Amino acid sequence: MTFQELQNKIYNLNTLDGVDFFTVGYSMLGHPIYGVHLGSYKGKQILIEGAIHAREWITAPLLCDMVDYYHDKSFDGGMYFIPLSNPDGVSLVLDGPNNLPCEKLQKYLVDVVNDGSNDFSQWKANANAVDLNVNFDAYWGQGAQNVFCPSPGNFDGYYPNSEREVRVLIDFTMRVQPNITLSYHTKGEVIYYGFDALNSAQMQRDREIAELISSINGYEVVKTTASVGGYSDWVSLNLGVPAFTVEVGPASAPHPIGEEYLPEIFERNKDVPLTALQAVTPPSATRKMGLKFHNFLRFNK
Ligand SMILES: [Zn+2]
Repeated sequence: MTFQELQNKIYNLNTLDGVDFFTVGYSMLGHPIYGVHLGSYKGKQILIEGAIHAREWITAPLLCDMVDYYHDKSFDGGMYFIPLSNPDGVSLVLDGPNNLPCEKLQKYLVDVVNDGSNDFSQWKANANAVDLNVNFDAYWGQGAQNVFCPSPGNFDGYYPNSEREVRVLIDFTMRVQPNITLSYHTKGEVIYYGFDALNSAQMQRDREIAELISSINGYEVVKTTASVGGYSDWVSLNLGVPAFTVEVGPASAPHPIGEEYLPEIFERNKDVPLTALQAVTPPSATRKMGLKFHNFLRFNK
């Protein structure tokens, strides 16, 4: 699949009945980051994002297939999907560096960041060589795996929320106030829950929902340890609602997980969004648990 074919697949979701299709924002290089809403805007809402790590692009067509699966079903509440959170990075993985808009950026990414290689198949970052899923302002900068210079993966940026794609996700999430979020990654067939800052009631709540998701897709439930700077971490810290990172695809398969795995991954995960949405506490009760805006406000004045 080329990057254009993937963007077309996402864009074509707008033709489905029952789909509200919109642009959430733009990447650093100006690619649209598309979003979809299904169901009602009243009641509980789930937000599902994918492909924030470039080489994990298979989660973007996975989320498209989920939209296709749910678009003509009726259910209480609504679902937001952002299939491709990191278009610039996925463009590098699928098409290589030749489509970058300027030669100097191409030279910099190939020669300096990617050690002279035109093979970007293992790239996780965006086109700034920042790993978006360690750039969020949630105990930013404390990750054991973090590196401190532009890199194909694990560079957390020069400051939290520095990346345009991260701010797009934050702004959208603050606006729609989801009651639960799922972040789709590869690989290993694991459901991560339990950001360190959660209180014991929140931890217990999230463990129970993770186990319910596991009963659907069969993945292992694992409590995160010292996970920082990720989208799920940011949601846990700032909204206090359940937030999970789901790693699809067998651990034994090499990155990037290829299209041949998609049918099996879809079958195992297609009922996860609705199960998760139904499992979550209604909005009024969730809000009483306390919204925490301090981190958001600190960096968005
Ligand atoms: Zn990932």
